[in-house]
Parts: sequence; structure tokens; C-alpha cells
Amino acid sequence: MKDKYMGRINLKCDVCGGDQFSHESDEEIVCAECGKEYTKEELIDSNSEELDNRKDELLDDVKKDLEKSMKDIFRKWR
Ligand SMILES: [Zn+2]
Repeated sequence: MKDKYMGRINLKCDVCGGDQFSHESDEEIVCAECGKEYTKEELIDSNSEELDNRKDELLDDVKKDLEKSMKDIFRKWR
């Protein structure tokens, strides 16, 4: 679920400004433009401003998703 929401944020490379990354693994993210390697934490850290700006928007989406699955659960119980 975390990755689903992460994928909607345009993370940018600190070095070249590129926004294409390949995920080698959960802990290793490589910039497709310049090859700079990040850990997830480093990438999130260098994009914390953008993440902050989008936080409310993302929270809304999370809430909507939760409401939807709650409704699904209640429907099954009926
Ligand atoms: Zn780069």
C-alpha cells in the first residue's frame, strides 16, 4: 500500500533532477538519468518538501480508500 502512494509522487534526483528511477530492491533506488544510487530514506529525505506539499492530498486518498474497503467489509457482513 505504501508503494502505491509513493508511486504517485514525483521524486526527483538530487544530482540531475531526473524523475525516472529503477528500483533495484526495496533499499536501493537508482536514478535512470545519472546512475546515482539512493536508499529509499535518502530519496525521501531529499524530496521531503514535495512530500510535505502532497501529504494532505495523499491522506485524502488514503481515507477514501479506507472508507471504500470499510464499506466492502460491511456489505459482506449483511
Ligand atoms: Zn540523477
